[in-house]
Amino acid sequence: MKAITIRQPWVGAIFSPTSPKDVENRTQAYSHRGLLLIHAGQNLATGDAFAKVREITGREVPVLGAPSSGREWAVGAIVGVVDLVSVHGSGECGCDCSPWALPYRKHLVLADARRFAKPVPAYGKQGLWTPDPETMGPVREQLERAGLAVSL
Ligand SMILES: [Zn+2]
Repeated sequence: MKAITIRQPWVGAIFSPTSPKDVENRTQAYSHRGLLLIHAGQNLATGDAFAKVREITGREVPVLGAPSSGREWAVGAIVGVVDLVSVHGSGECGCDCSPWALPYRKHLVLADARRFAKPVPAYGKQGLWTPDPETMGPVREQLERAGLAVSL
């Protein structure tokens, strides 16, 4: 099973009940489709990320990493799972596919985001990566709690 590391507050936005972040912008396209674990990196996004998340979701970004802030705002953990349904270039959609889409990027189209009842601590990696067996044990439990029977 594949995972992708994304910085906060973008991860929280993926699981937002309002205007969820349904496009992940990358320089590289991936052939993987289907379930994709969302790992929140230890480092935070810089620049206008916080303002943009507030603007598009209409919600405040709580204290990141605090248990009281909500499971989707954890850092250094796999917080949930999405379906990676398709990938296209910004030239194909003109960035009209989502308010989250950026120019000059590949748009990873995400759907059906489901956050875990309990985030699973893990170190991130570049690109799409495969969690080690020690991490996949608790991840599998969370997937089952989310109603997903996954053959690994
Ligand atoms: Zn697009």
